[in-house]
Amino acid sequence: MALSPKLAKRLKKFTQEIRQKTESYMGYPVSKDFEYEALLPLLQYPLNNLGDPFIDSTWKVDSREFEREVIEFFAELLRAPKNNWWGYVTNGGTEGNLYGLYLARELYPKGICYFSQDTHYSVSKNLHLLNMRHIMIRSQDNGEIDYEDLRETIRLHRDLPAIIFANSGTTMTEAKDDISKIRLILDEFSIANRYIHSDAALCGAINPFLEPRPHYDFADGADSISISGHKFIGSPIPCGIVLARKEKVDRIARSIAYIGCLDTTITGSRNGFTPLVMWYAINKWGKEGLALRAKHSVETAEYTEQQLKSIGIEAWRNHNSITVVFPEISDDLKEKYQLATANGITHLICMPNIQKHHIDAFVADLEKEQKEKDV
Ligand SMILES: *Cc1c(COP(=O)(O)O)cnc(C)c1O
Repeated sequence: MALSPKLAKRLKKFTQEIRQKTESYMGYPVSKDFEYEALLPLLQYPLNNLGDPFIDSTWKVDSREFEREVIEFFAELLRAPKNNWWGYVTNGGTEGNLYGLYLARELYPKGICYFSQDTHYSVSKNLHLLNMRHIMIRSQDNGEIDYEDLRETIRLHRDLPAIIFANSGTTMTEAKDDISKIRLILDEFSIANRYIHSDAALCGAINPFLEPRPHYDFADGADSISISGHKFIGSPIPCGIVLARKEKVDRIARSIAYIGCLDTTITGSRNGFTPLVMWYAINKWGKEGLALRAKHSVETAEYTEQQLKSIGIEAWRNHNSITVVFPEISDDLKEKYQLATANGITHLICMPNIQKHHIDAFVADLEKEQKEKDV
């Protein structure tokens, strides 16, 4: 049996539309310069990595061997403590954040979660799902957490465990909360019962190559880190990586063993294809390749900021970020380039596929509009 000619035609048309839509966007942190053709034959099999990637299962149609290598690669990149890490390939940054918060709540059921105003919209939902007590902290103008507000708030609740949800690359301005500064605050109030989760959805795969290196990983004091796979690395299917200190995971693995199950991940069935995508990407590029991609993106962002300023637009960006922020632009151009806008600001994200000529075309469009307005 095959699809009817009519439906086959519809699918073909849809494919062309998607190709065009993919070409034009510049406002979302999603790489499009990937090719995974070598993996296509694997789409014929019901790959499923259900369960813990590090524990053998009777089900054998899986890619857990590759998943483990991916996790190991990121454990090293994120400076996880030797032989004291665990993780898995998730369905995206949101699941990794949910996992980190879940772990924190299991360890500190009475803890309060602190997160900044600029935190990703999915986090409130996660906190609601987990029924966790939480307090929103003010953000500074650049999108980074306001350490003074955090300090004052923690001071008032110093008798309770502190669960910090830190951002390394906020959604709108790519601001990075400094975990080492946050730790000083926790030290100041002698809060021993603490947990720090690092949401590095976009920047987790960029930060290791920046100088100075942002404070966001295990060596800086994070207990768990979540990264999106389809953002900086690139994937046709959303995915991500979550890593946590193994000693902490083991504590909740026991509590799950109590109900007769060693199911350590959030979902039951898990994607067996995306770990291969991640594996392919990291092996194709290696650390050197990823470093070059990061360098290219930062340079393009610098160029974008300069070009926008040169036509009188008040563009700015956080240090070493690949996101350029500027006052809200016209609906026409927002639509044309799929540029996300919130609270009066628009951003353009220089993912690795973005070249100077893309920026030139966008700046020329903006300039043309400005001139038309002036007439
Ligand atoms: C994209 C993003 C998320 C959500 O990640 P998904 O992979 O889309 O689930 C969470 N936090 C930040 C800062 C993000 O940029």
